[in-house]
Parts: sequence; C-alpha cells; structure tokens
Amino acid sequence: MFDLAIIGAGPAGMAAALTAADHGLRVVVIDEQGRAGGQIFRRPPETFTGSEFRPTAGYEWATALIRRFEADTRVVGRFGWSAIGILHEDAEPDTLCVAVNHPTRGTGMITARRLLIATGAYDLPVAFPGWTLPGVMAAGGVQTLVKAQKVAPAGEVVLAGAHPLLLLVADLLVGNGVPVREVAFAQSIPAPAEMLRALNAVPGHLRMLAETGTVLTRLLRRGVRVSPRTVVTAAHGTEHVSRVTLTRVDRRWQAKGAPRDVAASHLVVGYGFVASTELARQAGCELTFDSPRGGWVVAHDERLRTSVPGVSVAGEPAGVAGADASRAEGALAALALAADLGRPVPAAAFTEAERAVARAARFSTVVQRVFEPDREALGRLATQETTICRCEMVSRGNVDDFLASAPFVTDVNAVKLSCRTGMGPCQGRYCENTVAGVLAAARDQPIGLGGRFSAHLPVKPVPVGDLGALDTPLPEPGATPRDIN
Ligand SMILES: Cc1cc2nc3c(=O)[nH]c(=O)nc-3n(C[C@H](O)[C@H](O)[C@H](O)COP(=O)(O)OP(=O)(O)OC[C@H]3O[C@@H](n4cnc5c(N)ncnc54)[C@H](O)[C@@H]3O)c2cc1C
Repeated sequence: MFDLAIIGAGPAGMAAALTAADHGLRVVVIDEQGRAGGQIFRRPPETFTGSEFRPTAGYEWATALIRRFEADTRVVGRFGWSAIGILHEDAEPDTLCVAVNHPTRGTGMITARRLLIATGAYDLPVAFPGWTLPGVMAAGGVQTLVKAQKVAPAGEVVLAGAHPLLLLVADLLVGNGVPVREVAFAQSIPAPAEMLRALNAVPGHLRMLAETGTVLTRLLRRGVRVSPRTVVTAAHGTEHVSRVTLTRVDRRWQAKGAPRDVAASHLVVGYGFVASTELARQAGCELTFDSPRGGWVVAHDERLRTSVPGVSVAGEPAGVAGADASRAEGALAALALAADLGRPVPAAAFTEAERAVARAARFSTVVQRVFEPDREALGRLATQETTICRCEMVSRGNVDDFLASAPFVTDVNAVKLSCRTGMGPCQGRYCENTVAGVLAAARDQPIGLGGRFSAHLPVKPVPVGDLGALDTPLPEPGATPRDIN
C-alpha cells in the first residue's frame, strides 16, 4: 500500500509528489496522459520528433519541475491510467482505494492511506445554435491538438469567448500558418481603474502580462481583427461550420445592434475553465459554487483537506487559479499530508508554502474577476431547438417543457432524472453548466442554488467487461523502475 496516491500529474500533482517524497512518503501518481505536465505543459508523445519540453513564457520554473519529477525514482508513475472512482475500505479505516482503468490493460485498484485529487480543469462548454457542428472546437482542445499532436484546424478560423487563452491560441494558430479572421471577446477593454487594481497583483507576474501584450500586438500587426464586446450567437453549416454569427453586446453581454456573419471553417470557443471535480463528487467531498473560480469547486480547509477524511485537493479542482497557484497548493497539501502521517515537517516549510499560495492568489483573484464568464448571459444563448445535452440529444425546449410541467423542480439532479441530461458518457461535463443556466432562468434563482449533478463510478467511460476486475489490486513495483506501465 502507498502512503499517498495523487491523481493528476500537472503542476499541482508534480509539486505534491516531490514534496511528499522529500518527507519520506511512498507516493504513486496516476495520470491518464502518457506524460507528466498537465494541461498547460502538454507535450507530444516521446516518439515524436521535437517532443522535448519548451518552457511557456512566465512559467520558467516548469522546466526544472518536470525534469526533477521525471528523474525522481522514489515516485511511482501510473501514466495512461484513468482514475474512475474512489472507494473506502470498510475493514481498513485508514485505507482508500482508487479504481483505475487503462485503454488496453483493463481495470484495477490502487490502495493508499491518503489521497490527493489534482485533476485540473477542462474547457467551459457553452451551448448556442450550431455549437455541436463539426468545426466548432474548444480553445483548450485546439491548443492541446497543436501542442500534443501537432495538428491544427485547416481553413479560416474565428475565435470567440471571454478568456485570455483565446489570444494564446490565436497566436499559436497564426504561428502555425492558420489564417485567423477574428478574435471576439465578450468583455470590453479593462477600464483604467481595473488596470490599476491589477497592478497590485503584478509582482512576480510581469513577464506573463508582458507576454499577453506582445501576443495581442503581434496579432493586430498581422491583420487579425480583435473585437471587444462581441459574442458568437450561432454557427452555421450543413456538414461542417461555414459561417458564424457575431453580435455586439453591452456590459451584461446582452445583444445590442445587428448581428453580422463571418465566413469561417472553424470556430474556436473559449469562455474559461470548469474545475474537474467529478472524482471529488463521487468520493463524497463537499463542494461550493464559486463562479469566478470555475463553478463548483471542492471545499477545503487552509491546508487543502476536504470534508472526506484522508482526501485532500490541490490545483484547479480547489478553484481555477492558474499554474502558479496549482504548484503552490500541491506543495502545501503534500506538507500537510506528510505531517498528518507523522512525518516531521518544520514550521518554516509551512510558512514558506503558505506564502507561495497567498502570492499566487493575489494574481489569480484579479484574473478571475476580470475574466469571469457571465453564466446567466451564456445560459440565454441556447434557443428552444438547441441541443444542450449532446450525449442524450436533449434540447433546451425539452428541458423548458419539463420545467413548465413541474413547477416545484428547482434542482439540476431532478432535471437529470427526468430529462436524461447528464446521464450519457460525459456524465454532465458538457451540459451541467447549460442545464444550470436554463433552470436558473426558469426559476429566477441564482445558478448555484440549483445544485450540481451527482457523480458515480465510473466517472469516465469504461468498457463494461473491464468492470469485473475492479477489485484486482495492481501489482506494486519496488522502488524502481520509475514507471510501471
Ligand atoms: C485544455 C487546457 C489548456 C490549458 N492551457 C493553458 C495555457 O496555455 N496557459 C495557462 O496559463 N493555463 C492553461 N490552462 C489552465 C490550466 O488548467 C492550469 O494553468 C494548470 O495546468 C493547472 O494545473 P493543475 O496541476 O491544477 O491541473 P492540470 O495541469 O490540468 O493537470 C491535471 C492532470 O490530471 C489528469 N487527470 C484528470 N482527471 C484524471 C483522472 N480521472 N484520472 C487520471 N488523470 C486525470 C489530467 O490528465 C492532467 O494531466 C489550460 C487548461 C486546459 C483545460
């Protein structure tokens, strides 16, 4: 049995693993990707030429962190394995079991005394007419394709949303020879007062801000149109996107003025991120709704311990705050877990880790406030005919009809049970936000009040035949080799 199982090898998981190993814990790291790095530092498979890590501007620490993690023989890696559920061992109160699945090796169980959920985030899905057409893609998804598979969309691209990642993706596409027609932002250019507030958060993040400015200037110089206060309201085409509708909006993202159509073969949508909390939900952790920090996030104490004994959280599931915050939280959570398991941790180590978390939070709070998606406005984009649950093919009209027929329903799980939204293979990852927006609009209540979908094992799609071996312990290696794929 391991002392600590960490799910996720992004900045949070890597920092936690190294810190925990430094304090004498036996650690296993599980990640469904083939290599460490998480979303921000995704790399192509090792077999690709040019697959070595290239540092991202503003995150110079990443090279050393990844190198250290990959060279560390104390930490056991389970790469290519998805964690599909967390179970408590009744006979052994101090034991947690992580059910894992591999595309070719089937299913098994990893046991540990403590668990750290560091599963990151994913793109916030937004439903509007035409959003399910081939050619409509999420900003993070496009970035991943270019970074990890070296493929980019063909033809002219329009990007629309409300998150600075759009600028990075537009720049990446232009740099790879893809013609970018326009980048539409729902927000206006930040007001001077907002810029002044942001300056307080700058120390340590100047390079990152400067890089964003450079990217914007480069895009404008290359003739890319950047349109503030503009929202994509429809994508059109028969087999594939051929045109998108962009509409001017006011401060509250309400349509203002005539829409205009722009020809495009791809639409890249980026309204921000959703904290990846399905494993925490399934494990029974309490969650709180915090819109600027990624919607439903895992509740935790100041040392990242969740409401479930033995289970901690770090990085984006604790609140989407960027890679600096993830790395700092990973280290702090690991120190707390080591102390909890009786390892000596000097008070100075805690002080330093807590300072790093506070420093990162100063910057992320500003970013979260400026780029918070207006969920109510996004919830209005779907028309009655728009499919909102693409797994079960449920339209907004289906949900509105149900809500009209059941006036006492105020909870998204009741909608799920009656309309099947969120019952498909994605378990609501695509539709939860939209269903919550539709419910909030129908009941004139805040989005968070409608609750959240529950999650069940397996939280990710798994062949039914693999489930029979769920309780088979995965063989544990000795101290080496480093990875036991
Ligand atoms: C697609 C995408 C692209 C992004 N690009 C950028 C960018 O360019 N710049 C930027 O500043 N920020 C970017 N972000 C934001 C990014 O989430 C953070 O800055 C940073 O990566 C967070 O680190 P983390 O360790 O919390 O999580 P992550 O880096 O997301 O790491 C989480 C890891 O957990 C693994 N995982 C999740 N669920 C499971 C499971 N059930 N079983 C096994 N493994 C699992 C994932 O494979 C992933 O490797 C991006 C986010 C996304 C979703």
